[in-house]
Amino acid sequence: MYKTIIGLEIHAQLSTKTKAFCSCQADVFELEPNTAICPVCTGQPGALPVLNKTVVEYAVKAAVAFNCSINLRSSFDRKNYFYPDLPKGYQITQYFTPIAENGYLEFKLDGNEKRVRIRRIHIEEDAGKMIHQDADSISGASGSLVNLNRCGVPLIEIVTEPDISSPKEARVFMELLRDTLRAIDICSGDMEKGALRCDANISVVDEESGTSSNRVEVKNINSFKFVEKALEFERERIIKALEQGTDVDRETRTWNFTKRETISMRSKEEENDYRYFPEPDLPPLQLSGEFVEKVRKNLPELPQQRVQRLIQQYGIPEYDASVLGSDVKISLFFEEVSRVTGKPKDASNWIMTELMREINQRGIPIDEMPIGPEHFKVLFQLLDQGKISAKIAKELFPLMVETGKTPDQLVKERGMEQISDEKLIEEIVLRAMESNPKAVQQYRDGKKNVMGYFVGAVMKETRGKANPAVVNEIVRRLLES
Ligand SMILES: [Zn+2]
Repeated sequence: MYKTIIGLEIHAQLSTKTKAFCSCQADVFELEPNTAICPVCTGQPGALPVLNKTVVEYAVKAAVAFNCSINLRSSFDRKNYFYPDLPKGYQITQYFTPIAENGYLEFKLDGNEKRVRIRRIHIEEDAGKMIHQDADSISGASGSLVNLNRCGVPLIEIVTEPDISSPKEARVFMELLRDTLRAIDICSGDMEKGALRCDANISVVDEESGTSSNRVEVKNINSFKFVEKALEFERERIIKALEQGTDVDRETRTWNFTKRETISMRSKEEENDYRYFPEPDLPPLQLSGEFVEKVRKNLPELPQQRVQRLIQQYGIPEYDASVLGSDVKISLFFEEVSRVTGKPKDASNWIMTELMREINQRGIPIDEMPIGPEHFKVLFQLLDQGKISAKIAKELFPLMVETGKTPDQLVKERGMEQISDEKLIEEIVLRAMESNPKAVQQYRDGKKNVMGYFVGAVMKETRGKANPAVVNEIVRRLLES
């Protein structure tokens, strides 16, 4: 048996208006290259950094949400390295004393409680971005361009202890972390836009011999799926090496999307390559206990608290609560629909399946959907009164989303009322019996499932609008008469 040991380092971009140490715009995702830069974030001589207060507030929010102890006094340091996307030649980070330490995040996976400890959370600034032409890296490129917009974009780095024991667990942890960052409203959590990035360390221990593999780092993973895929790939690669009596190199690798494998980037640099030293241009960061308390008091409900509350308040199953509760907007919507309709379980069913499908297909967030609780209220009433069948309701739903019209409007417009007219249904069944006496005989010989044929015939002729309960009853009655 092999034991897998995974630790994560996650960079989360803080959704502040301005950058960490200057007043340049911080959300640079859609900006033209090099349009959100100034002497401070591009390291011009004599330019001095000034700490953005909101960055501190957001970092403390994260620290509280992740159960960390907060260092009232922390400091900024320089991480020195040379790269063309880093004009200052160093990154401002917190190395010697981070803003927060010793936290944890707990979650349930396959029925088991899991706690992943968080070693530290520190504030740092992002670096720029290189675009290499005709190659993946600067060596071998026919030309390289640099975009400094990201220089100075505020990040927090969240470092876990190596407590994660499977690739799947790593993914679930990342998702909960993202949901939490979104709930406290400090990070968009959009991995595809680079607002959340993850480096993963993995090693494997052969539990029989006690042999432990070298540790491999997989850098810059930018999707939840790839977190799991890349780590699965690495685990297999490491186990294969151990089984052959060798070991993998201690190195940094990257997930190659097209090849669906990790590839080597470089051998692992030692930490002291960076020559950290205290940042002389920024004073130590001193927080007051009141400030931290205020942040703690104003912290919104966290995803897991919300899940527990939804179970208790609405009596919905844990699975439903965890699906609905992972997203603030979706759970708010669920609560509104439940309140307006008085039917939490129906609300949960419809939101988890039909509404989520529409959201995913259309790529429109829930608060921009043209349907609200009233639509659900009318829909549930139509179902209760037997005016539409469940099947019709499901056909109506995309039309509601498409047009913003209420279901009763649509039913009227399109003549989709459920048919409960017994006379009419009887006629159809009798006709079907006449044209297929063989099936009637089969039923009477004991082949009861032939009934489905007649029910189907009615549904076909009424284009799904017949009331299934009425149809079933009539079909059975006529076949047995
Ligand atoms: Zn700037």
